Amino acid sequence: MPDTPKKKIHKIVVVRSLCIGAGTCVVVSPDGFDLDEKDIAVVKPGAEKLDDDQLIMAAQSCPTAAIFLYDEDGNQIFPRV
Ligand code: SF4
Repeated sequence: MPDTPKKKIHKIVVVRSLCIGAGTCVVVSPDGFDLDEKDIAVVKPGAEKLDDDQLIMAAQSCPTAAIFLYDEDGNQIFPRV
């Protein structure tokens, strides 16, 4: 049986004051993020269940590093501390 990598990301936060509405996160992960009526990113319901790699890529793609990812214990996974 192939090893499936353990899902690490359990919580996603967009710091709205940092978001400039560039929309890159939505392009990288359309199931994870959306822009609201103010063109600020919001985390879609269930986004934390998406593939970790996709979520990390979306967070890395953000020009202002407004996306924070946490594991189930609340430890910050991205940006690395
Ligand atoms: S990539 Fe960053 S700045 Fe752009 S919409 Fe997403 S959170 Fe906002």
